[in-house]
Amino acid sequence: MKPELKVDMTVEAKLGTLEWKKSPEAHISLRDDSPAAPCAAKCQDKPCVTVCPAKVYEWEPDHKKVVVNYENCIECGACRMLCPYDNIVCDWPLGGMGVKYKYG
Ligand code: SF4
Ligand code: SF4
Repeated sequence: MKPELKVDMTVEAKLGTLEWKKSPEAHISLRDDSPAAPCAAKCQDKPCVTVCPAKVYEWEPDHKKVVVNYENCIECGACRMLCPYDNIVCDWPLGGMGVKYKYG
């Protein structure tokens, strides 16, 4: 039975209504994830970490890099638009893979 979708649900609860089929290949990656990358060297606000509703991006201060958990992506496209240094490569998952929306 489908869970009921309500307008006052939290983002986390709405994400819980989705299903994913994990692609063996990452459809999101960083052009540069070295210590010299803009993530570590220039990007103070790191909007990818804060804007992604699926928490795909995690900043690891000890390693001075952004980790990309592409499996959680809901394919909204916000990260690529908001990265101030064009450091995100965002394609579609392989056919039949990725997120599956139950309500649309
Ligand atoms: S927004 Fe772009 S430059 Fe900034 S941390 Fe994220 S990927 Fe790196
Ligand atoms: S496309 Fe959307 S869900 Fe996927 S990583 Fe970017 S911001 Fe997150």
